[in-house]
Amino acid sequence: MFYRQTNQIDFVNHYPSLIQPLLSFRLKMLVHLSFILFLPYISTIDIIQVRVSTDSSNSWIVRNEHEGFIIDCGCYWQHGEILARKWRENFPNEKLPAFIFLTHTHSDNILGLPSFLNELNITQVPVYVSSVGALNEMNYWLEIWQEINPFESSTLLDKRQSPNQFRYNEHIKVLDHPLTMFDDEKIHIISNFPAAESIHSSMVYVPTVRALFTGDLVAVNSHLFVSPSDAYSDSDNHVCNWIGVLQSLSCAFPSSTRLYPAHGDGQSSMSFIETIDANIRWLTYMRALVFNSCNTTFVMRILEDVFRNYSNIEQSRASLANRIPDSAISLGCKCSRNAPNTCGGLQPPACQFVPKNRTLSTRTTALSIGCVHQQIPASSVHLRIDYIFLFIILSTNIF
Ligand SMILES: [Zn+2]
Repeated sequence: MFYRQTNQIDFVNHYPSLIQPLLSFRLKMLVHLSFILFLPYISTIDIIQVRVSTDSSNSWIVRNEHEGFIIDCGCYWQHGEILARKWRENFPNEKLPAFIFLTHTHSDNILGLPSFLNELNITQVPVYVSSVGALNEMNYWLEIWQEINPFESSTLLDKRQSPNQFRYNEHIKVLDHPLTMFDDEKIHIISNFPAAESIHSSMVYVPTVRALFTGDLVAVNSHLFVSPSDAYSDSDNHVCNWIGVLQSLSCAFPSSTRLYPAHGDGQSSMSFIETIDANIRWLTYMRALVFNSCNTTFVMRILEDVFRNYSNIEQSRASLANRIPDSAISLGCKCSRNAPNTCGGLQPPACQFVPKNRTLSTRTTALSIGCVHQQIPASSVHLRIDYIFLFIILSTNIF
């Protein structure tokens, strides 16, 4: 299933039709000439979503007509194949991705790499993570997958994806240089978040199209994956940190930011702020419920009712089942055979990002961590557009 999103800069499309009636013929010619001269400097960036089903993780191809890169590899064998075919459709001239960047190293973002390389009939492409910690996290998960070994039996996985057969460590390296694409566009890698959904996660930001690739840290109309393998006592800290990270995002990026998550839709009718808010509310609500209930089905039903499309996934159920009833028991609730549904108003452990006694609301007057930082520049293309205007004005005066 593909969604193609073209983020063309409106200026290129609309400027001539808006201004042409006002211009003399000679000036028109000059404007056209200036467009021809400057067109190569205005990037047209396409962002293409690749996923094999609405439940599976996303990869994103980010490209202009000359070059491109990929974010995340998906999980299933078929995902890598489709990603490769989609790449080849866009670059029939044997051009390869400049790099693949992995937002984090959970299996659903890396296991598609072997089939991607296989389908393109290549053995190497630069694949980056942000830190050694992310590589360690990858190896932790690969060991678990080696033990479970679903590669022989699963219809969605292939034994060539097994860590026994594919040496992930020989392909995936720590990024050690700045990334620049599309004629001088700096690709921002944002990392060093506190341990949240994953221990070491990164985001990628492409300023000219205000595109924020969030990995698993933000979902759009999809479940939020609460890792089931985290040790119980620590995993609530991760969720608490995650809420803090999300709060920071809403003020660190422009409100017109477009989200491209590892799970769920791309562009949706919800705004950037609304989406972040839905993620925060889901996590806050989930904490309030799991620390106050002995019944996973009850918790899931409430979450499904309140957050449509954010909870009704088996994975969420599995990861919540890992927290229920242990969370409530840790606060003294007497759980027995999935009962009671509610323990009578128990409060989850203190989380610095959730106001006390207001577990169902995330609105706070306190400034989030990210809000004290300078905003990342919204778009460097504005400079280019201003420069073109300046050029036109100067030329008009000269002629
Ligand atoms: Zn993940």
